[in-house]
Amino acid sequence: MHPRFLSAFGALPDSLKAAFHPVLDDAQFQAVLTPEQVASLMQQTQLDADKLALALLPLAAACAVAPVSRFNVGAVARGVSGHWYFGANMEFFGVALQQTVHAEQSAIAHAWLRGERRLEAVTVNYTPCGHCRQFMNELNSGTDLRISLPGRRVSTLADYLPDAFGPRDLNIETLLLDQVDHGYQAQGDALAQAAIAAANESHAPYSGAHSGIALRTASGALVTGRYAENAAFNPSLPPLQAAVSCSICRAKPVKTSRRRRWPRWKTPRWRSLPRPKRRWPRWAAISRRASRCAKTEARHAFQHLRYLLFTKAVHRREIS
Ligand SMILES: [Zn+2]
Repeated sequence: MHPRFLSAFGALPDSLKAAFHPVLDDAQFQAVLTPEQVASLMQQTQLDADKLALALLPLAAACAVAPVSRFNVGAVARGVSGHWYFGANMEFFGVALQQTVHAEQSAIAHAWLRGERRLEAVTVNYTPCGHCRQFMNELNSGTDLRISLPGRRVSTLADYLPDAFGPRDLNIETLLLDQVDHGYQAQGDALAQAAIAAANESHAPYSGAHSGIALRTASGALVTGRYAENAAFNPSLPPLQAAVSCSICRAKPVKTSRRRRWPRWKTPRWRSLPRPKRRWPRWAAISRRASRCAKTEARHAFQHLRYLLFTKAVHRREIS
């Protein structure tokens, strides 16, 4: 079991603990439940789907990276395929707050990147903020999406977002999670092709700025993200944030590898300038702070902060 789940798992009711232990203990667990696992958990715990999703929220919240707010939010997005996807808020210390990913966005992006085509419900441990209500209104589920919160009756997005403004007000017919292919031709190496494939499935009906990103991890795995645009523009989710959020939800911490873009004889002048003595002073400071931190969750957060900064460094280099 990943250490980040230990505390939340220990606080679960005994029946759920016994039923969920094999799932969580599986090294392949990547914060997604299959329909078979959901059915088995419901049968073993005698909980209905809404109550089971609520009971699992502490585990979703354990995926949070919240060094700014220290306020962990967890969400479970339930797809019509029967899969359940965890999501959590992701904050990144020292960068603009627009980089933040909210728990609902994280769970929805997680479902979307895994090929889910429609959501029937989102369960979250705190009331959705205005940003998330608007973000969810972009989904092809529309305002019929069911929203479930602890201690509240199950409602729909229409209850949480009266007088909604959404894509249909702008005559947009292709909605978030609808299957699309923008038709960009694959080219370049595997990394470039994965980024183009992600851009082909991005949701950018307002700007037409179809965007995708592909990151290669140190273990060689490819992580991709797509741009999810919104009728209100600002709650849009950029592709890097979608990719990083999905990666963090995975059980294993992800490390990126550096990639040389230019042959040595074509190295741009700025790359041949002398490097500072400490190449990554911000990381070094963060790592020292993290190593002094006794809490597993905080260590986990800083580990991923380092990862995000690394991906951003690579990203800048790719587009320079
Ligand atoms: Zn929110």
